[in-house]
Amino acid sequence: MKIRDIERTALFKKLVRHLGCYQGDPTSQDLEKMAENRGRMLLVIRTRWILLLMLSAYGLYAGSLFFFSRPGSPHATIQLAMPAGILLAAASFNLFYQLFYRELSHLTLSNHLQILLDILVTTSLIHYGGGISSPAWAIYPFLAIEAALLLERKRDTWLFCMATILAFGILLVAETSENFSPAGFSPSTAGLSQGPIYSLLLWTWTAFMTTAMTIIASQMIGANRRKELTLKQLVVKDQTTKLYNRSYFFKELNSEIQRSIRYNHVFSIIFLDIDHFKEFNDAYGHLEGDRALKELAGILRKNIRRSETNPSYDIDVPCRYGGEEFGVILPETPINCSADGTCIENEMHAVAFAERIRQEIESLRIQGRKITVSIGIASFPDHGNTPDELVKAADDALYLAKSSGKNRIFIAEGKVEPQNGISSSGLNTGSSYPWEAPNPESSELFADEP
Ligand code: GH3
Ligand code: MG
Ligand code: MG
Repeated sequence: MKIRDIERTALFKKLVRHLGCYQGDPTSQDLEKMAENRGRMLLVIRTRWILLLMLSAYGLYAGSLFFFSRPGSPHATIQLAMPAGILLAAASFNLFYQLFYRELSHLTLSNHLQILLDILVTTSLIHYGGGISSPAWAIYPFLAIEAALLLERKRDTWLFCMATILAFGILLVAETSENFSPAGFSPSTAGLSQGPIYSLLLWTWTAFMTTAMTIIASQMIGANRRKELTLKQLVVKDQTTKLYNRSYFFKELNSEIQRSIRYNHVFSIIFLDIDHFKEFNDAYGHLEGDRALKELAGILRKNIRRSETNPSYDIDVPCRYGGEEFGVILPETPINCSADGTCIENEMHAVAFAERIRQEIESLRIQGRKITVSIGIASFPDHGNTPDELVKAADDALYLAKSSGKNRIFIAEGKVEPQNGISSSGLNTGSSYPWEAPNPESSELFADEP
């Protein structure tokens, strides 16, 4: 079995269900976040290799010096063998992470575990490298950088900072006992004989350095993440409506198709075009037109689903496709109730979503005037298997909605017929399809409200 196939095994799925960083199957956003996390994990794994190489080189050099300066000393052997064993253990877990970081990125606590292991390795190295006399305490601040880089939440980074300081404190206290003194040293020999004041000072110094590094790393990495987010928002969002732009729409559509193939899901897209918008612009000016676009975008944003995670993110993807055309990707959303007419209560359907949007936009008033939209819906895999096929299907449906009177919803030419009387999904009970066709005359749409 290839490593990549592990993700498909029942055992792995069970593990992810209990310890995974998402519920059910991952959304596109979850997959994107996991990809970012994998990048950071790989960076830490590579950095750990470098650090291990440096430590091994230094250990070999220091160990040989020690060994030859005290030939025959049993302590010299222990002091060489134990750190070598610890480095080997660290190399093994790093190799494990290198081989399985893809799979591990699905699990919430895999990063916490590797930082914990690093604290353990560093503390053991200090112990077997001479305890209080060992210079290996200097590795602790590196762990603060690692935690700030790997962990999403500042609170967790600080917890690990505390854990590091605590681990060193416990070691120093434990080493004052004869039974736990590092090999070749005893409280009465050099180094340890400098007494509790020296121990306290060294511990405080290490605690300060680790805390300082936690602050510096959190600030730097936090600022970098914020900058990245701002740049990403600028690249993926339309600045007038604050909705995602067309190129992001296609990127997400593509990844939603891949995800739906992989997890055997359906999803829908809806396309909206404002009716008679040119007339609106001509009557009230482009600035008012822009205001209408923003209000409409607000309705889309208000109605999309968001994750319940912290920080939360958009599950549906509302986009400004072009001038006054909008597209929304609705992951894991069938176009309508099942063909036999059964509707599951509270289950999301693209038609119900579209109708809610249509009604809310219709009740919007700009300058006291009504605005309406025509909507086309298509779903994967019924109406297409590629982004282009799906967009064309939704666009054709939109065209039909326009040509048959506007302010209405059309489903892409295909299998699903809307059901009558499905009030649970938010449709007008008993209405026929398309619903409540308004007067197609444009003048009526912009008529003054009574
Ligand atoms: P239809 O009902 O057939 O859709 O008629 P329409 O007038 O809306 O026709 P169309 O969709 O071709 O209209 C596009 C109009 O949208 C043209 C332009 O005035 C307006 N528009 C496009 N982008 C913007 C924008 O960024 N701001 C404003 N204010 N208007 C825009
Ligand atoms: Mg248009
Ligand atoms: Mg239009």
